[in-house]
Amino acid sequence: MTANPSASGASSAVVDILAIAAHRDDVEQTCGGTLLRMQAQGLHTGILDLTRGEAGTRGSAAERAAEAAEAARILRVSWRQALDLPDGRVENTYENRLKIVRVLRELRPRVVILPYWRGRHPDHYTSATLGYEACFLAGLAKIHTGTQPHRPFKILYASLYADVRPSFVVDITPFAEQRLASLLAYRSQYGAQPAGSGLFVPEAEIRERTLAEARHYGLLAGVRYGEPFVQKEVGLVDDLMLIPVASI
Ligand SMILES: [Zn+2]
Repeated sequence: MTANPSASGASSAVVDILAIAAHRDDVEQTCGGTLLRMQAQGLHTGILDLTRGEAGTRGSAAERAAEAAEAARILRVSWRQALDLPDGRVENTYENRLKIVRVLRELRPRVVILPYWRGRHPDHYTSATLGYEACFLAGLAKIHTGTQPHRPFKILYASLYADVRPSFVVDITPFAEQRLASLLAYRSQYGAQPAGSGLFVPEAEIRERTLAEARHYGLLAGVRYGEPFVQKEVGLVDDLMLIPVASI
């Protein structure tokens, strides 16, 4: 795993797909199975966490860094790093957009996965807009960061936290257990302990809840386990015979 985005120094794609999320453990819950599936298909994947988890009820930022590294190993991503935006106060400022622009230009992902743009936690929906605007700015030649402009080809929104009908579902059936293992790598969050026990779901329930959500979205698409995504653009079709659909 690359420790520093500037260390990669490459102008060609370093990762094909980059998932951007507010908090360490968000990606594990919303699109970890999809990252695993894409990696299994030969693509390079990456995760950019915008905060480091210092405001969490349980665990320190240092503990969460070690847990995030372990989760990244389980998810088989090529790259993972956290920015230093304040946990619980993710703001869509020009300075924060530029921090993401630098990462986008170093990693040059073709696809970026963002959180859905509405939700309960302000960090989540703010990250959606912040990430979108950073993707746009990253393509502008007049935004100078010392690296070549790059605009992702496709932006997708991981919508598992949101109560919306997805545009499509990714079949993660072979990867559901591995995705769950990546979430359970956050021992400080999900291990049985007294601190914050009124706020956190016991570990014994994590498995049932995680697989039930994946089963729900899988059912929508006619597979066992799935992860939901929303895309803003209308799909373009050349051949009606090649549209992937669930069997009815
Ligand atoms: Zn979160």
